[in-house]
Amino acid sequence: MTNSTLSPIHIIGGGLAGSEAAWQAAEAGVPVILHEMRGVRGTDAHKTDGLAELVCSNSFRSDDATANAVGVIHAEMRLAGSLVMACADKHQVPAGGALAVDRDGFSEAVTAAIQQHPLITVTREEVTGLPPEEWDLAIIATGPLTSPALAEAIREKTGTDALAFFDAIAPIVHTDSINMDICWFQSRYDKVGPGGTGKDYINCPLDETQYNAFIDALIEGDAVGFKEWEGTPYFDGCLPIEVMAERGRETLRHGPMKPMGLTNAHNPTVKPYAVVQLRQDNALGTLYNMVGFQTKLRYGAQAEIFRMIPGLENAEFARLGGLHRNTYIHSPTLLDRSLQLRARPGLRFAGQITGCEGYVESASIGLLAGRFAAAQRKGETISIPPATTALGSLLNHITGGHIVSDEEPGKRSFQPMNINFGLFPELEPGSIVKPEGIKRFRGKDKTIMKRQLIAARALEHCKTWLGAA
Ligand SMILES: Cc1cc2nc3c(=O)[nH]c(=O)nc-3n(C[C@H](O)[C@H](O)[C@H](O)COP(=O)(O)OP(=O)(O)OC[C@H]3O[C@@H](n4cnc5c(N)ncnc54)[C@H](O)[C@@H]3O)c2cc1C
Repeated sequence: MTNSTLSPIHIIGGGLAGSEAAWQAAEAGVPVILHEMRGVRGTDAHKTDGLAELVCSNSFRSDDATANAVGVIHAEMRLAGSLVMACADKHQVPAGGALAVDRDGFSEAVTAAIQQHPLITVTREEVTGLPPEEWDLAIIATGPLTSPALAEAIREKTGTDALAFFDAIAPIVHTDSINMDICWFQSRYDKVGPGGTGKDYINCPLDETQYNAFIDALIEGDAVGFKEWEGTPYFDGCLPIEVMAERGRETLRHGPMKPMGLTNAHNPTVKPYAVVQLRQDNALGTLYNMVGFQTKLRYGAQAEIFRMIPGLENAEFARLGGLHRNTYIHSPTLLDRSLQLRARPGLRFAGQITGCEGYVESASIGLLAGRFAAAQRKGETISIPPATTALGSLLNHITGGHIVSDEEPGKRSFQPMNINFGLFPELEPGSIVKPEGIKRFRGKDKTIMKRQLIAARALEHCKTWLGAA
């Protein structure tokens, strides 16, 4: 370990992101002071004082690095010397193709590694305001349950619209799984708008029978309740669709499913009874979100019910919908590519508060923030992972890849995101070639091959980025 004469980086929050950020910075030779409030003040979800506590499931999801985007990010994090992944691997429990862990063993291992690191000091205290100026390099990694005083200070600095206390997630669909023989591109009343073409939305038409069957399914669908401490987060502007359906059969037809101003390009003479609209979600155009479809339906019910919509019968969901208590900032406008707050260089954000979602994603953004801050402290050039890697694609999404809709200047269109293949740039044309000796090469086979090629490219580019190729 060298360079311990350097000034410390202050990291606020010792969860998945803060612990990983502290480890990465310290391993790079930079001292860290990690401020964690548990031990002095708890949250509504954490039960222990351990660092990197898993607040709910004990799963890090798929560990398949050959054809699953979560598995790819695991592999990249291992290549980058991730503490979270090392402790997860050490405390793995049997879970088929998933990486699940003994939660206590995992958290204890992270806590021990952090506490024993000669360059890391852990202080148990709540940080109640923005880091003081003398903490010139700092990372806020306080997660979805950031304490109210700090959240208020962040809101004051970033603006009311830029900090959300609840998410309202509409499902996101992989564009190439939408049936364009049924759907068509059109903006309502062909409006071009400031940045559009008049054909900005993908529209799915429903006739009266299909609409009624869909409403019945929504009303009967199995929904998840809110936890007592979450309160009732929704207001009339962002009701879950199943709640709208319960309020009256016609409510959705006069709301997010209204057919006005739309003509079915495949059948112009028949007016659709209702229309579901999907809006481009990322600059790559590989993902579209279902407009106004925030929901508390269980994941299994969502996939089944949404595939009843004509054109979405084979939809592959990059993310399903949800509504949760969640503190997160509007990263695409607030942060630069190295996760620094534009309004205060040197102050970074990491973890779920940046608008990524999930244990692994939070830890991965912590990994990047720790490395970026350490490089800055050592006067080195900050090296951003290429967007072809899982780490780079997630970073790219939260720091700019997501499209902020002109129709939603209130910025609510930015919702928390998991890692998924829709965030990666497309392969070079001609990359997907029918293997020799195979008679039928169907859409599903092509999708699997595409994922395998994107995964292999990601790992290769990640090794190059880390200088480990
Ligand atoms: C109830 C709930 C259930 C979830 N379930 C899952 C799940 O099953 N699977 C999944 O992948 N993801 C889940 N998530 C989402 C998310 O991935 C986790 O919350 C994850 O822990 C986020 O990592 P993080 O490091 O950003 O935040 P956290 O792990 O929450 O860490 C933030 C830390 O900051 C501390 N802190 C907060 N404010 C301050 C302050 N002012 N000063 C000092 N310290 C502070 C907290 O005590 C905490 O230790 C869930 C989230 C919630 C809220």
